[in-house]
Amino acid sequence: MDTTVKTCGNDAKASHIDRGSRQNLQQLARENGTPVFIIDHEKIRENYREFKKFLPKVQVYFAVKANSNPEIVKTLLDMGSSFDVASMPEFMIVYEFIKDLPDKERQDWIWDRIIYANTIKPIETLEELNQYKPLVTFDNIEELRKIRAHAPQAGLVLRLRVPNTGSMVELSSKFGADPGEAVDLIAAAFDHGLVVEGLSFHVGSQCTNFENYVEALQISASIIEECESRLGKKIRILDIGGGFPVKYNPEVRSIEELAVKLNAEIARLFPADMEILAEPGRFLVANACMLVAKVIGKAYRNGKPSYYINDGVYHTYSGQVFDHCTYPVLAFKEGPKQISAVFGPTCDAFDTITLSAELPDLEIGDLVYSVNIGAYSHASSTHFNGFPPAKVVHINK
Ligand SMILES: *Cc1c(COP(=O)(O)O)cnc(C)c1O
Repeated sequence: MDTTVKTCGNDAKASHIDRGSRQNLQQLARENGTPVFIIDHEKIRENYREFKKFLPKVQVYFAVKANSNPEIVKTLLDMGSSFDVASMPEFMIVYEFIKDLPDKERQDWIWDRIIYANTIKPIETLEELNQYKPLVTFDNIEELRKIRAHAPQAGLVLRLRVPNTGSMVELSSKFGADPGEAVDLIAAAFDHGLVVEGLSFHVGSQCTNFENYVEALQISASIIEECESRLGKKIRILDIGGGFPVKYNPEVRSIEELAVKLNAEIARLFPADMEILAEPGRFLVANACMLVAKVIGKAYRNGKPSYYINDGVYHTYSGQVFDHCTYPVLAFKEGPKQISAVFGPTCDAFDTITLSAELPDLEIGDLVYSVNIGAYSHASSTHFNGFPPAKVVHINK
């Protein structure tokens, strides 16, 4: 399987925002201090509407790990979204909001709202999850034994290993049963007295090679057929995972183009009553968040103006490490531009945001900003060196 990765191609041109928005960001920084991480809830709602417009039959399970801010969960829940969680704390963030919903009485209500989509679960987590009759993914026989022993009330979804070619972040080296062993694993689950309700896959994050989805759907369809013919078992849920690409630059093909392909293949390969789920993470939040930081130091290094700002790769820019993404650092100030370095605030030289930002001459105290920074950024921020994560501010809630 291809393990090469690309960066997201989030370039300075794609980062353009209008004058009014720039003034707004500066105002928010004045009111709240810096670094400040701004979440635009209207943009999240817009992304959700766009997804549902093109994939109307697909139930959205927002992948909470992309940005686990509880207010985002609330906004998406109000839109009708469900959630993909991968740990007990993520489960509880969502559960706090759904526990009082009226559909609680329904026997499988929690499945309608939450899928626990981490194929590897600690025994303590399974023991805690069991009371909720959760829907959980698995991809190996050891996990099946753990589920039978510690969460026998769970419904199961088998995660398949599918091609990741050309995705920015690949996941197949860590997760997914080989398609060749899938039916045997499903048979083993039924033999253990458990019920496999569905199949799932993830084509890799920021997937711009749409053939990955087509191949994954075909692999799933043949496994579902074999389950019926060999085991006499009907699989009723198909979870097509995440990977829906964000338009970090104009070359990224649209969700509409992907949706046309997906809708046609789903109609061709699966019965009309198949429940289709998706777990978009990045797509719903990446372009909905912005960061404003402040220049706290200035030096000339290797003949280059070098700025030290109060956010860096241990914090909101952590996506540069974990997500293979780049976030251009932009200035509010106008003026002739020079190639400049931008460093984060910690004592580690690794805390380098870029060695080639095009910036005007900046002074200490000047503000800089980055856009399209909502996914896998604030969520993976640390407290390294005693610097806390950026303050979060919500707009258009
Ligand atoms: C991370 C993850 C997602 C979200 O992926 P995106 O590429 O951000 O859409 C969905 N499902 C699972 C199981 C994941 O691990």
